[in-house]
Amino acid sequence: MSEEATPRAEKPRKFQAIKGVRDLLPPETALWNNVEQTANSVFSTYGFGEIRVPIFEPTELFARSIGVDTDVVGKEMYSFDDRDETSVSLRPEATASVCRAYIEHGMQQLPQPVKLYYTGPMFRRERPQKGRYRQFYQIGAEILGGQDAPAIDAEVIEMVMTFFDKLNLQGVELSINSIGHNAPNCRPAYVELLRAELTKVKDKLGPDSQRRIDTNPLRVLDSKAENEQAIIATLPHIADHLCAECAAHYAAVKRQLELRGVIYQENWRLVRGLDYYMRTTFEITAEGLGSQNAVCGGGRYDGLVELLGGPPTKGIGFAIGEDRLILSLQEQARQAESANAASGASPGKSPVTSHHSLDVYVAWMGEKTYATAVRAAKDLRQAGFSVELPPTEQKFGKALGQADKLDAKFALILGEDEVTEGLWTLKTLDDGAQVKLPEPALIEHLCNSLNARKPL
Ligand code: AMP
Repeated sequence: MSEEATPRAEKPRKFQAIKGVRDLLPPETALWNNVEQTANSVFSTYGFGEIRVPIFEPTELFARSIGVDTDVVGKEMYSFDDRDETSVSLRPEATASVCRAYIEHGMQQLPQPVKLYYTGPMFRRERPQKGRYRQFYQIGAEILGGQDAPAIDAEVIEMVMTFFDKLNLQGVELSINSIGHNAPNCRPAYVELLRAELTKVKDKLGPDSQRRIDTNPLRVLDSKAENEQAIIATLPHIADHLCAECAAHYAAVKRQLELRGVIYQENWRLVRGLDYYMRTTFEITAEGLGSQNAVCGGGRYDGLVELLGGPPTKGIGFAIGEDRLILSLQEQARQAESANAASGASPGKSPVTSHHSLDVYVAWMGEKTYATAVRAAKDLRQAGFSVELPPTEQKFGKALGQADKLDAKFALILGEDEVTEGLWTLKTLDDGAQVKLPEPALIEHLCNSLNARKPL
């Protein structure tokens, strides 16, 4: 556009991120990386490989798998017509996509089961609040194919709990339930019973629950409405209506969890919001999150691959809300810091509080030193240190002030004397100690002192 085309008086619009959508900035992103790397290393010890699925898919894929009567599909998807007029949607979750990919790439030909994990953004148009966003991030895993052995349910739960444990997440509580399966003598019979009981008390329920009596009575059990709690407490429990196979499967899952030392509580109201679940469902909550305290939800979905046009395939998986996981870790770190401050103890280095740390600030003075400074910065970065090289010359005092502001651990002082002598000055900013060393010895000195301080 030519300059003349821009009207002079008009102030450029200031843009802001869309409601419910946020930027993640350093130093917080270091924590996100840390969490994702931990997921990668824990999940790979259980034999999972990473899958990356598209951000958008045909709307039909989600409608068919998650269910048209769910809030996610009915009210929360970002859907639009593509230029060829097919409806596409930003993914509200990734299980449907993983199953689509399993079918599309003929993964049933691979040794079964296939174990896949993913990380990435999901999109749901929910009412934003702390811990609930319209673009949020999930870390999830799916096991597809093979058997529906209860040991698999227990192992996948053990894996999430191990991951949380590795992150030192506090106040973790696991709830489990079984919601039976779709065969006629199991969940459908219970759903009818529930519908009949709910119809009797319909007048006492709010509009959402009243609507769900028709569309999805199980979801009434999810209700948080204060005035419905006493009514819900009197409803029949699914555990008393499971068929023999589902009851045996559930009992075996509990035994398998106990065998693995995984502590759980049972919650008969845990039905989960998405239609495709069957038998085992689970949810994990953590501290410091207020009302949105679920950090992970998951369960078994043996019919889903078939529903999407694939062969009959067993399936189980979970999705962790990464935003909430991070919020909980941050809250935990804040509490630990204030407890330390109160007791006068020095705060331990935690992955949550450690910010992007600068190892060396190169304080170069005099044009003649610049080429050496550039080389020194490059060599130190090659050796793995984080280095800040000011692009223009600074006075000594200003350079050290800047090094201090950036919280550098060392200042490498390069004046003309240092460069001619080949002896560089290294100042430790904590205590002001200085040493003069030739370059190779200086790198070794830095390695020794930084490694001694770096947490493992
Ligand atoms: P779901 O896919 O609904 O089973 O959710 C799995 C997990 O994703 C939940 O336990 C939350 O931790 C997280 N989650 C779901 N929706 C949101 C959202 N709108 N904002 C942040 N996290 C979410």
